[in-house]
Amino acid sequence: MGVDTRTLKAQVDLRLIVEQDLGPAPMRGRQALLWRCPFHDERKGYSLAVWADGFRCFGKCQVSGDVFDWLQRYRRLSFQEALRALGEAPRSAPRLAANRPAPPAEPPPSEWQVAARQVVEQAEETLWSCQGEQALDYLTGRGLAGETIREAHLGVVPGGYRQWRTIAGLSVPCGITLPWLTGETVWAVKVRRAAGQPKYVQIAGGSCSGLYRGDALPGAKAVLFCEGEFDALLAHQEAEPLVTAVSLGSAGTGLNDRWIIDLVTVPLILVAYDVDQAGAKGATRLQALSKRAHVIRVPYGKDITEFHLQGGDVFTWLAHELRRVRQDAILTPPVH
Ligand SMILES: [Zn+2]
Repeated sequence: MGVDTRTLKAQVDLRLIVEQDLGPAPMRGRQALLWRCPFHDERKGYSLAVWADGFRCFGKCQVSGDVFDWLQRYRRLSFQEALRALGEAPRSAPRLAANRPAPPAEPPPSEWQVAARQVVEQAEETLWSCQGEQALDYLTGRGLAGETIREAHLGVVPGGYRQWRTIAGLSVPCGITLPWLTGETVWAVKVRRAAGQPKYVQIAGGSCSGLYRGDALPGAKAVLFCEGEFDALLAHQEAEPLVTAVSLGSAGTGLNDRWIIDLVTVPLILVAYDVDQAGAKGATRLQALSKRAHVIRVPYGKDITEFHLQGGDVFTWLAHELRRVRQDAILTPPVH
């Protein structure tokens, strides 16, 4: 064929080609740009990561490949057509510099927030009525105190785990409601169902770019990223003001730029994700944000809740980790 595809590939930045196809990237990592994956018609997340030399879906379909695979799969070109397209593809990546950050996420529209607030209020009222007994038992069984549960405005929509209710015009799965509030703003409402997969379902219309307890960031001396909301609540209950606990809701979710500005002033960032593969991956991603970020692990158990329920002292553990990390920072000269 006489065409050196390797040289051709090296000259092309796949991110620019995907940008032509899918528009500007809604999320940006340090190397990769992230889009909703078109191959599995993704609605919620941004599973498609694209680097200069390849792409991969970290979500449902897991497709991956190089620039030729992209052109053949997405644009449905033949190999010959792909070669021709590459000859005309943009060659450099000047616009991919860090000086063009994605706009920070905005909270959901106010009409949605009004309806979501009604859901939250009704569910909270139910939790503290006799209908909420079982849910309350579950929450206290996770080590959460009544005051913590109230402060977090947790609630319950009673019913079987397969059932949904319509409240304030929103379709709500039955289960324990976890509102993502920052001040007056409702970013999202997640529901933990008693069974079934996925266990956590977000009420449609909410944002995936929130940060659970994110409004606690300003003025924080140290921030603790927990993998889930319940862990964040427990850490908040047991160890504030030592650390300010927040959560992205899952190990796979990245931090939206909106929250970075509040993190800039925090001297120390701890990441305590679950002791499993997804947790390790998510922690590494957060660690890459800043030299002030340190990955820590619970001494035993899979996560903070399990550690606490098995008799671990969350406050003592975190105090120890903070001392250790600060000591390291003093002993290790800064690198550039
Ligand atoms: Zn996909």
